[in-house]
Amino acid sequence: MIWDVSVAYYGCPYPSHIEADLREIYEAGFTSITLCINEYEWPSIVNAKKIVVDKAQNIGLKVFVDMHGFGFFVPGHFSIAVPNNPDWCEVDSRGRIYPIRGCPNNPDYRAWLKNSVREIVNKLKPDGVFWDEPSLIVPRGWPEVWTCRCLVCRRIFREEYGYDMPDSLTDDVKKFRQNSLFNLLDELTSEVKKLDRGLINILCLMPEHTGMHGIYSWDPVLNLKNLDVFSTDPYWIWGNRSFNWFIEWVNRALEVSRKANLKTQIWVELIKVPKGRESDVYRGVVKAVELGADAIATWSFRAEEGSELSCEDSEKAWKTMVEAVRKIRSM
Ligand SMILES: [Zn+2]
Repeated sequence: MIWDVSVAYYGCPYPSHIEADLREIYEAGFTSITLCINEYEWPSIVNAKKIVVDKAQNIGLKVFVDMHGFGFFVPGHFSIAVPNNPDWCEVDSRGRIYPIRGCPNNPDYRAWLKNSVREIVNKLKPDGVFWDEPSLIVPRGWPEVWTCRCLVCRRIFREEYGYDMPDSLTDDVKKFRQNSLFNLLDELTSEVKKLDRGLINILCLMPEHTGMHGIYSWDPVLNLKNLDVFSTDPYWIWGNRSFNWFIEWVNRALEVSRKANLKTQIWVELIKVPKGRESDVYRGVVKAVELGADAIATWSFRAEEGSELSCEDSEKAWKTMVEAVRKIRSM
């Protein structure tokens, strides 16, 4: 039986609209929401976020919070604190700085990030935290150009390897970049468990091992002692890949999770699905469960209706997802 079926929900600034959304989600068969908390919304609309969490939990939905922005995630999610502290920023191998991305090795940025996690968890009381595609930025000119080679990274590299950090992607540099991300993840996930052992940590890594985002292998997931669920988001429709590519990455995630004794969550896209390909969404959800996924999640509520990432026929895409959810809840 499936452990969890989640849908990403951005929240709503008008509390009187929240209940209807959450009822729709619950009645569609989802068992949790993955609630986006954007840095620019925190703390300005903390009350609306708290109402979402409380109402969702009252209805019977679990809530996993997804910190967007905060200098840590895929480009496009803006940070306020990181550009205000230029010392925290990632710096590429040619010396350019990236103002919305914090360096995972910078101690002040790490302290601020951990404090933000504590604040969010303490105020909202969610059921867990969803770590959404933590990564290093991909600079223009990759792989000749890469991050992070800030002063802090250079100092730590010298201490660990005994020589100056090269400006090219050597094997030591690759190892260092990947360790930087996993060290931070280890600290963040343990911070969550310090607040409450019952909180669930879900880590979602992108389905690629080229190192462009800093990740060359999923093996270090095995060392994250405070992780509960390993997740990936192989978006084959949006990414114009084959269905076999989707299956391949689901199987890779399952393999890592089984070795690490974690649950597996697979994201199926409700992003930019072209009209006429809605049945692929259904196919992906059912296949992931047949292959052994413990949890399914989808981005996002009502197929991104109204956003530039909307499915072409958002109504049909959403309805197809709801049918898929019914199917897997009965499997
Ligand atoms: Zn750095």
